[in-house]
Amino acid sequence: MNGQMMQLPLLISSLLMHAERHHGEQEIVSRRVEGDIHRCTYREMAARARRMANALARLGVSAGGRVATLAWNGYRHMELYYAVSGSGAVLHTLNPRLHPDQLVYIADHAEDGVLFFDLTFLPLVAAVAPRTRSVRHWVAMTDRAHLPADAAKIPNLLVYEDLVDAENDRFTWPEFDENTASSLCYTSGTTGNPKGVLYSHRSTVLHSYAAALPDALNCSATDVILPVVPMFHVNAWGLPYVGCLTGAKLVYPGAGLDGKSLYELFESEKVTVSAGVPTVWQGLLAYVDANQLRFSTMKRTVIGGSACPPAMLRAFGERHGVHVLHAWGMTEMSPLGTACTFKPKHLAASEEERYAVMAKQGRAIYGVDMKAVDAAGNELAFGSPEQGELLVRGPWVLEHYFKDEGGNPLVKDAAGHDWFPTGDVVTIDADGYMQITDRSKDVIKSGGEWIGSIDLENIAMAHPAVAMAACIAAPHPKWDERPLLVVMKKPGAELGKEELLAFYEGKIAKWWTPDDVVFVDAIPLGATGKMQKNKLRELFKGYVLPTA
Ligand code: ADP
Repeated sequence: MNGQMMQLPLLISSLLMHAERHHGEQEIVSRRVEGDIHRCTYREMAARARRMANALARLGVSAGGRVATLAWNGYRHMELYYAVSGSGAVLHTLNPRLHPDQLVYIADHAEDGVLFFDLTFLPLVAAVAPRTRSVRHWVAMTDRAHLPADAAKIPNLLVYEDLVDAENDRFTWPEFDENTASSLCYTSGTTGNPKGVLYSHRSTVLHSYAAALPDALNCSATDVILPVVPMFHVNAWGLPYVGCLTGAKLVYPGAGLDGKSLYELFESEKVTVSAGVPTVWQGLLAYVDANQLRFSTMKRTVIGGSACPPAMLRAFGERHGVHVLHAWGMTEMSPLGTACTFKPKHLAASEEERYAVMAKQGRAIYGVDMKAVDAAGNELAFGSPEQGELLVRGPWVLEHYFKDEGGNPLVKDAAGHDWFPTGDVVTIDADGYMQITDRSKDVIKSGGEWIGSIDLENIAMAHPAVAMAACIAAPHPKWDERPLLVVMKKPGAELGKEELLAFYEGKIAKWWTPDDVVFVDAIPLGATGKMQKNKLRELFKGYVLPTA
């Protein structure tokens, strides 16, 4: 017997319609590429999204057609999130930090028909445009008055505000199956070609519900949310959807991701919640500390994408009264998998214990099931000290990559259930808190035993002279591999190898101590702000470790 409730498909357009009707007056604030601060309401944004939906139809974008963006976080990008997906097409967010060769590959692979770009990326578009086969229309996300003269070199160039101005805002969002594709995001492809992850309306709406929950990103109508995490990186972790769902005020930073620009926006717009990768927060903390500033409204920030060093948790908590919510996810998971929120017993725990919990990646959010398995695929019980690979399943977890690239990525358990292998090496404690020790490709294996590179990096990062640290495996004649620590010092800081290695004493098992330290001017970062350990491994391929 079926239930007797309404069958309404979970569509992204329903988030926008909810926002317009129920908190239409709420503000969306954006720092624009044009240099000013732009303000609009959800109601105005929704009307412009409908105009853009009309414009897309006029450009010949049909159901399932791919529309790409190369853009910062801002209201026009948000309009496209809704206009493209809402009209049944697929929004493909491109990462402008990728190499032009990769962008050409991805745009053609996705068969993007229209590409919208912020003016910052005009040189990039000029380099890519003559080489892509699929893109028919290039749209500069500005108005005609701000269009630079050299934009003329882009063929068939259109201007965003011209498109919006030419349409009226009468448009009825179509209804279709909730499993229809809504948006597309490629993994950064540290090995091999980037692979596309194609989200659906259903997966996106369910993920938005879950993301907003108190024990996930904890967002409500009274919050002011500033997503630092880019809208080109896994849909800014769902925050542009969470805004419509909750009625929170949204503040978009545009291209201003340095400490000073972010701090000023946090203060002027009274931001309460933010979210981003650790490298961004480092810049912000350095600026705030150097200028002895305080956050007057910020209550918490979500940190994920790479491990949040415990020193950063404490810097935010102890010096600034900002609670860090450590979260973990993947492009293949829309992205949220775990969030590190407390259980009741932690409320009475000591500060030390609470910080130890907060350093973990956290507990599974309902909608994501997870387990760690050993090399033979057997599940490790929660509380087992053994580390294993993390497997996940759920309605917003990838089933297969776009165009079936790479074949079937899933593994089956004895009950016949499919699981997605994350490539992360983890432990899960008795309370269900997952902690990542490594990505499987970054693991250091010394004499057959794993050494957790993230632990070693976290300790180095707690040293006041260290700006960034990466620990990689270096070949060793006796132990196969031993840890080599690559360190970027803070500007002007004094630090020697001996002093840094002494800093490890008592903090880890002695045999985990790195065999050597090299100081470098910069650690290579990937397109999503993560340390590129594969590049470092390449750089130090022939490195000879000192032998005792
Ligand atoms: P990629 O870096 O492969 O392009 P993602 O941005 O999807 O793709 O990154 C997912 C990976 O990032 C995870 O599998 C994990 O290794 C790492 N990651 C994400 N969040 C965290 C975190 N809080 N702590 C440690 N690692 C994390």
